[in-house]
Amino acid sequence: MKILVLNGGSSSQKSCLYEIAGVTLPSCPPNPLWESVVDWTHHSGVAEIKITTAQGTVLKGEIPAKTQSEATAYTLNSLWQGKTKAIDQLSDIDVVGHRVVHGGSQYRESVIVTDEVKGAIADFARFAPLHNPINLAGIEAIEQALGNVPQVAVFDTAFHSQLPLAAAVYPGPYGWYEQGIQRYGFHGISHQYCAQRTAQLMGKSLEDLRLIVCHLGNGCSLSAIRNGRSIDTTMGFTPLEGLMMGTRSGSVDPGILIYLLRQEGYTPDQLEQILNQKSGLKGISGLSADMRQIIEAEAAGNPRAQLALNLFIHRLRSSIGAMLMSLDRLDALIFTAGIGENSALIRAAACEALEFLGIRLDRQKNENNPVDLDIAEAESAVRIFTIHTQEDWAIAQDCWRNLNS
Ligand code: ADP
Repeated sequence: MKILVLNGGSSSQKSCLYEIAGVTLPSCPPNPLWESVVDWTHHSGVAEIKITTAQGTVLKGEIPAKTQSEATAYTLNSLWQGKTKAIDQLSDIDVVGHRVVHGGSQYRESVIVTDEVKGAIADFARFAPLHNPINLAGIEAIEQALGNVPQVAVFDTAFHSQLPLAAAVYPGPYGWYEQGIQRYGFHGISHQYCAQRTAQLMGKSLEDLRLIVCHLGNGCSLSAIRNGRSIDTTMGFTPLEGLMMGTRSGSVDPGILIYLLRQEGYTPDQLEQILNQKSGLKGISGLSADMRQIIEAEAAGNPRAQLALNLFIHRLRSSIGAMLMSLDRLDALIFTAGIGENSALIRAAACEALEFLGIRLDRQKNENNPVDLDIAEAESAVRIFTIHTQEDWAIAQDCWRNLNS
């Protein structure tokens, strides 16, 4: 089965093609046959593209694409034409999976796309205006190019859709909840994948494990997982809540926003821009949203980089504490995404605060670029893992399951 995965964001789109040959899913994530990343943030009217094939062909360049649909058309052509060709014709694709950011509280699993599902994705755009319209446009671009190939929507909110009410409802007026203002949580595809991969590596059933997943990338969120379900998470109604992030503030006192609206005359658009693009590591350091640069500048004695790093660690530790209290036992603490997978310093800083609970990181394993590995000391009370998150492979697996169930 050939599975095309589209993972579209507001400024970039990742796509990849997997082939599953057997009658069961492989136990380890296979390498994709073909991968493409299109990024149209840099210059107006031009998108940067990078396509890689399993044979080692790499195509890098700029394409004249102003819109996501132009970029998607180019990407699809490169699948069956030219030096990055991976299939003979587009009709060789059996199913297309899409990461869809918002599925509300109603989509608890991934689903085959129908007109009703498309309507719901359009409806949830009021909660995710930067993402759901792009996801829907991706589905429609595939309809145009590939006719009625089965498409599967895999929702980033689905894994969190069964949060207990105490975690999901905000303590504002009850009417908020009735109008859909509640905690939805995001990064669910990654949280679920990392939980399943950890269970596999531990040789245990996910149902029997209590886990905390720390997804630390440009966007950062934690989840507390019990019986294979997310029961608490740090992101909320939007992906702005919770931890400090690259350019996002995470949680701040809502009174600050009222103050800025009232005293400083900010507009909602300005507030949105400040909270999403001018805050976090970048806002505090004034340097960069990139954790590598923050760590370098901190080591060189830059006081604002020092503050940014300290804030990030402080908020990470206190939120891990909050997740811990939502579980009444912990079997494994999991680090994933750009920072979680690559920064031994951040993992060590988070784990140091947990030593009094007998949670002990093996310093050497931590420093040794671990991938899908247990990095706890043998006698640690809780296992500690780094997991390479593979959202695209998780989406491909859901496509396979939807077509084979
Ligand atoms: P996204 O959320 O956009 O998918 P990633 O998961 O790729 O982002 O994470 C990007 C973040 O990971 C950036 O802050 C980057 O600095 C950080 N990162 C990548 N490699 C390292 C490293 N070796 N040490 C520290 N941070 C790293």
